[in-house]
Amino acid sequence: MSATFTSPLAEALAEPLLERFLRYVRVDTRARRDTGVTPSSPGQRVLGVMLAEELRGLGADDVELDANGYVTAKLPTSSATTGATTVIGLIAHLDTSPDAPGAGVEPIVHRAYDGGVIELPTGATRLDPATMPELATKAGHDVITASGDTLLGADDKAGIAAIMAAVAHLRAHPELPRPGLAIAFTPDEEIGHGASLLDIERFGASCAYTIDGSEIGELQDETFSAVEVLMTITGVDVHPGFAKDKLVNALRLASRVIAALPADALAPEVTSGREGFIHPYAMEGSAARAQLRLIVRDFDDALLDAHVALLEAVAHGIVDDEPRATLDIQVREQYRNMRLYLAESPRVVEAAAQAMRAEGIEPRREPIRGGTDGSQLSGRGLPTPNIFDGGHEYHSVREWASLQEMAAAAATLVHLCEIWSTQ
Ligand SMILES: [Zn+2]
Repeated sequence: MSATFTSPLAEALAEPLLERFLRYVRVDTRARRDTGVTPSSPGQRVLGVMLAEELRGLGADDVELDANGYVTAKLPTSSATTGATTVIGLIAHLDTSPDAPGAGVEPIVHRAYDGGVIELPTGATRLDPATMPELATKAGHDVITASGDTLLGADDKAGIAAIMAAVAHLRAHPELPRPGLAIAFTPDEEIGHGASLLDIERFGASCAYTIDGSEIGELQDETFSAVEVLMTITGVDVHPGFAKDKLVNALRLASRVIAALPADALAPEVTSGREGFIHPYAMEGSAARAQLRLIVRDFDDALLDAHVALLEAVAHGIVDDEPRATLDIQVREQYRNMRLYLAESPRVVEAAAQAMRAEGIEPRREPIRGGTDGSQLSGRGLPTPNIFDGGHEYHSVREWASLQEMAAAAATLVHLCEIWSTQ
């Protein structure tokens, strides 16, 4: 066995997994904001059709691609399973981030990476281990990148490939005991819709795992609690030549709201660890009407509410001073910290930790400064922690993945099945 692999099982899974991964990343599944339809981009359905076909080819039952682009399938227990009644879910998302180009991905496999700077052929994109501490530890790995002008899409096609590789292995080895498996590939996770239309009852699992983390060993049972705020300020627009004492400029008011928010605290650029933030990420409009979009995040629900209250107070303090202007604030809940829900079924996270140890990996339990499909699913009654998938530098043209870590994720899933087969 090559020393870079975590086990002979991971090494055996690696090449078939890579073949799948390279196919999946070539499909442009970049999510689009504000289309009002699911999936938000046609490529997600193209990948869905491909995966449904492959799942049928692997002998999965009840394979379905529904009207919203969700791919679901079941894999029954094997003949070697005695008495297991649990069904566990394996979930990954089809879409890629809208924040980087996603069309025409041309993956490059850098076999036995030498540990130096990787220069990509286009876009003057370089991956420098001096500024990428995780890459610096991957000398000897087979590193996969895009070509420099697109993201790679390991987020989350590494998760999809790991699930498919594990399912193919389990099908080929009926002598391995396994629980019933429910598989879901979901659209539009990156724009906050992932799994919202997954019918949990029909899915039929008593717990699930998203394969959507990054560095090997990541096991995440805690995410942000998250809301989105849409603020609309209406002013009074008048021809600027005749505007004296009449014009009320909505854009100026919106700019003052942003300027009045804390800048040396409670902003993503100055916070880390368990600190929350208020983040204005889009402003558009005219003198007549301005719209401000913000996200608010914290690990603690009471603090999250306090940040929203602060934001509302700041905005009202500025806009209410101008009686001719109006202010409308819409607060939309996105997801809640999954910790509260997972604490009720500690066995779910414990089984994942045990599966990683069986693969020789020490689990790293760190809160995610973000959300996963599992944040929402856990809140809806399906406890769903998150497992690493070996991809890195997500949402950027520098995105890369380690084949050894992707294979370790697939091997971890095989162990996870063995552990649940006796529950
Ligand atoms: Zn993801």
